[in-house]
Amino acid sequence: MKEIEQFKEKVLKEYPRLKADSPFRFDCHHGVACFNECCGDVNIFLTPYDIIRLKNNLGISSGEFLDRYTLSPFNKDSKFPVVLLRMEDNDRKSCPFNRPEGCSVYGDRPWACRMYPVGVAQPGEGNQELEEEFYFLLKESCCRGYDEPKEWTIEEYKKNQGVEEYDRYGELFKNLTTHRYFGEGKMLSPEKMDMFFTVCYDIDSFRRFIFNSSFFDKFEVDGETRTKIKEDDVELLKFGYQWLRFALFGEKTMTIRQDVLADRQAEVGNRAGEGQAS
Ligand code: SF4
Ligand code: SF4
Repeated sequence: MKEIEQFKEKVLKEYPRLKADSPFRFDCHHGVACFNECCGDVNIFLTPYDIIRLKNNLGISSGEFLDRYTLSPFNKDSKFPVVLLRMEDNDRKSCPFNRPEGCSVYGDRPWACRMYPVGVAQPGEGNQELEEEFYFLLKESCCRGYDEPKEWTIEEYKKNQGVEEYDRYGELFKNLTTHRYFGEGKMLSPEKMDMFFTVCYDIDSFRRFIFNSSFFDKFEVDGETRTKIKEDDVELLKFGYQWLRFALFGEKTMTIRQDVLADRQAEVGNRAGEGQAS
């Protein structure tokens, strides 16, 4: 993690800052001499949407995906849990999805793999002095992609790599991780950390929690939403973000059922009555 902080600092100080319409020359295909060389010994942070795409590509549950393919480093200063793709325990530390013919999950590869070699620096955690985001180019010494003749802008490259959809859902996740709650230096309790982890990274467990508990007895959730979140992981994730804003930050993003509210008010009234009587 310290290396990541040092890298961030280097980017801010030394890397040329690019915009969406900045042109660059690069291409990556089976014919490049370095093909596959970048798919190992690399820190790939997985977003909630990455995990949904990958576990569905592999036809396994989110829990199984997390067990088999990820690490979740934690230290006492962590504001929220993060998940990294776990590299194989071999000399190359290869990505578990790397094959001689290329990426075995290419159609559902993570955001970070789609963006490569484009990086993005955003204001916020670790970049407090940064006022607006900028792009930069990662230049690994092994990468021959920059010798290729293809030229495009950052925006064109992102479109070609199918990043737009990932950015759309990534924005919702970013709204959570950059929430002012964290900016004010507040920390989540261990229970809330678990809640964050389950909703964001273990979507199948979150679904079990929602449908196998008294959740719907407590919160107003219309029938159409219930059907959507039962069947669709992305819809459930979006619903989960609303739930987290309610449960972690106390925002009014969920509606408590009237009968539950009335019971609670009666309970509070009874307690107050008992207090006066004693
Ligand atoms: S997920 Fe695919 S593109 Fe990304 S590092 Fe692994 S093999 Fe390479
Ligand atoms: S090192 Fe660069 S050119 Fe080579 S496979 Fe990786 S991204 Fe493509």
